[in-house]
Amino acid sequence: MKISKPLVEAMVAHAGETYPEECCGLLAGAVGRPTHLYRIQNVHETPKVFYEMAPKEQFYAFKNMRHNGLNLLAIYHSHPESPARPSQSDIRLAYDPEPCYLLISLQQLDQPQVRAYRIVDGAVAEEPLDVL
Ligand SMILES: [Zn+2]
Repeated sequence: MKISKPLVEAMVAHAGETYPEECCGLLAGAVGRPTHLYRIQNVHETPKVFYEMAPKEQFYAFKNMRHNGLNLLAIYHSHPESPARPSQSDIRLAYDPEPCYLLISLQQLDQPQVRAYRIVDGAVAEEPLDVL
């Protein structure tokens, strides 16, 4: 997927702020490229290794997308201490085949990694990420 540098930087900043817990959020855009980022609070009871989006915040993000004629393009979250690859639970919980799944790894704090995946019916495929 194509993504602007400021949006990548915004996700990395979010991951840094919630470290050592996982952050999560949504990216939306009218067509193709994301233009809007929605930070969503991680309400999982074990937030260092899992994420669960706050339902109310998720609801308002989708409402805002509809209001602005935007589509959900990507779901992002961070891995504070592990690589930028979907975990078993990430794969199991990826119920939506449409959006891209973005992983931000802070395993190497001085060199955050961002990778993109498609997850369809449990099958994971990495997708090129073009940072513009
Ligand atoms: Zn994960």
